Amino acid sequence: MSDCLFCEIAAGRIPCRQAYADSEFLAFHDINPQAPTHVLIIPRRHIASTAELKPADEPLLGRLLLTAARVAADLKLMPAGYRWVINCGPEAGQSVPHLHLHLLGGRRLDWPPG
Ligand code: AMP
Ligand code: ZN
Repeated sequence: MSDCLFCEIAAGRIPCRQAYADSEFLAFHDINPQAPTHVLIIPRRHIASTAELKPADEPLLGRLLLTAARVAADLKLMPAGYRWVINCGPEAGQSVPHLHLHLLGGRRLDWPPG
């Protein structure tokens, strides 16, 4: 989707500070970090949100989480800990309609979230 910001980043047409890349996923540092480490992990394939997921996406979702765990390990976020967040829809604050997992770490994270 050429009008999707994260599709453009995945295609390399908009620059990012890359943390990890393979043929299926890209991880890059958030432009407005909410923690010392704030990385977004996205599938290269356009999926608007978790509300669009289909049963056929099950393997992709497993690989997405494994990729996020690998990035967290690469960034040495354990044993201190980290948080994953996936916002879906306006009330949850989703601002980019391309599925992305936030990886947050490097500081104490309050609960419940805002
Ligand atoms: P969400 O609000 O869950 O949709 O998250 C979207 C995230 O994308 C926000 O944390 C933004 O700061 C981040 N973001 C927006 N534009 C860019 C960009 N060009 N590069 C990196 N992160 C971005
Ligand atoms: Zn997209």
